[in-house]
Amino acid sequence: MVIMREVGEFNRADGYWIDAPAVDCPVQLPFGRCRLPAMDRVHVIGAGLAGSEAAVAAAKLGARVRLYEMRPKRMTPAHRTGQFAELVCSNSLGGEGQANAKGLLQAEMRLAGSLVMRAADASRVPAGGALAVDRERFSGFITQALRSNPSIEIVQEEVSELPSDGPVILATGPLTSDALAAHLQSRLGGRFLSFYDAAAPVVLAESINYHKVFRAGRYAQQADYLNCPFSEEEYRVFYQALSEARAHTPHDWEKLEFFEGCMPIEEIARRGFDTPRFGPLKPVGLPDPRTGKEPYAVVQLRAEDREERMWSLVGFQTGLKWPDQKTVVQKIPGLENAEIVRYGVMHRNTYLNAPRLIHPTLEFREHPDLFVAGVLSGVEGYLDSAATGWLAGTNAALKALGQEPLLPPEETMLGGLARYLASANPSNFQPMNANWALVPPVKRLKKLSKKEARGEMYKRGLETLTRWLTEHKLVLSVAVTP
Ligand SMILES: Cc1cc2nc3c(=O)[nH]c(=O)nc-3n(C[C@H](O)[C@H](O)[C@H](O)COP(=O)(O)OP(=O)(O)OC[C@H]3O[C@@H](n4cnc5c(N)ncnc54)[C@H](O)[C@@H]3O)c2cc1C
Repeated sequence: MVIMREVGEFNRADGYWIDAPAVDCPVQLPFGRCRLPAMDRVHVIGAGLAGSEAAVAAAKLGARVRLYEMRPKRMTPAHRTGQFAELVCSNSLGGEGQANAKGLLQAEMRLAGSLVMRAADASRVPAGGALAVDRERFSGFITQALRSNPSIEIVQEEVSELPSDGPVILATGPLTSDALAAHLQSRLGGRFLSFYDAAAPVVLAESINYHKVFRAGRYAQQADYLNCPFSEEEYRVFYQALSEARAHTPHDWEKLEFFEGCMPIEEIARRGFDTPRFGPLKPVGLPDPRTGKEPYAVVQLRAEDREERMWSLVGFQTGLKWPDQKTVVQKIPGLENAEIVRYGVMHRNTYLNAPRLIHPTLEFREHPDLFVAGVLSGVEGYLDSAATGWLAGTNAALKALGQEPLLPPEETMLGGLARYLASANPSNFQPMNANWALVPPVKRLKKLSKKEARGEMYKRGLETLTRWLTEHKLVLSVAVTP
């Protein structure tokens, strides 16, 4: 016997969209309601930015959701309240507008009917070109929306083992509890879970000066690297900027013991003028083809993605404050106008080696029905976490309905981010956030300015996403940006 249930509340109250099931409706009911076969429960672990969005996305497709959150019974070192989707530090969800990669992701999320974007729009505070929110109103809005949703059951307990029935979404964030982290290590393999970020800055390929850098491998090995060569004078100026740059002050619980192999560049510089150039900036085996001589020092760049749209600075992990980091990076020959798409960080963070483990649909390759979202999946930031939460929630609900998970088009920021997680270089995987290198460039006969090109990419992303959401019946009517 097939048990049928009713889903798809006719909901115009918030003026954004009409809820609708994503599947063909076998029995249509009045007022947009639909009767669907009963399906498995979706478990969402963690009610942060990703888990909150995932729970609502899954419920919207007709899934019964069980959402687990350990706070306030067990707090993390960074959270202060028992509210869902608490913003632990800044109150900004990133820059807005068409020139901004986060702006595109925000607009995509609005189209997808995101709870986090509804909360942000309802609680925004003036912040120039950024989408900043009143943090209490923001998490209050989300907590209320989750608690009042009849399809979502809330369990305020720490989860230390994965539930075994129905699809599961892991969204326990950068401060995943120790018990669950230990369980994941045993289930997935210890080497796939990292407990801190020691990341180097990543720059946009198109912002590199290719007249100054040269492509080569050390000792004429495969020419996989771009090399930024320093003269003695250039190195002196760079070293001075590095010595004067200010480092971020970590909380006590964030303080890390570094291995020699991943010492921050500023710490290496503190040991002496020549230490960086006998360490990660060593020029040996890298003669500049234009002079035939080894430079005074070299910063090597390694491709972050297959298309070589982003390059990271090798051995340059840093905890410098972002404005100072930019000043230092732009003192490197060839990077004078570098656009940093991801800043270096050194802090506590729990995340998986996504390229070794997951499909771009955020489902584990070896563990069907297990999904991951948020910082744990290898993204950075509030908005990016919520966006992956929407995708994981949607796909887990589709799995529960017996359908195939979906992947947004590559022209969308969310599609680009999800593809990056599954296909980045796994041997030095570091978390990533929304940036223009994640989506293909636009091709036009006439050369476009940077602003024009981004405007085109923005428009293309939204048009493509609208078609995709409609084709897959993920929304009935499309949200309009207020
Ligand atoms: C100190 C710090 C500062 C940060 N500052 C910023 C910033 O300024 N801007 C920014 O964009 N990003 C910042 N981040 C990154 C930030 O954490 C993420 O952007 C965002 O919160 C991640 O969303 P998430 O859903 O993955 O994790 P979270 O929002 O942390 O949500 C995870 C949830 O899972 C719960 N949980 C953990 N383990 C369990 C368990 N075993 N059982 C049940 N529940 C569990 C936690 O209590 C938490 O509520 C910061 C991170 C840290 C640690």
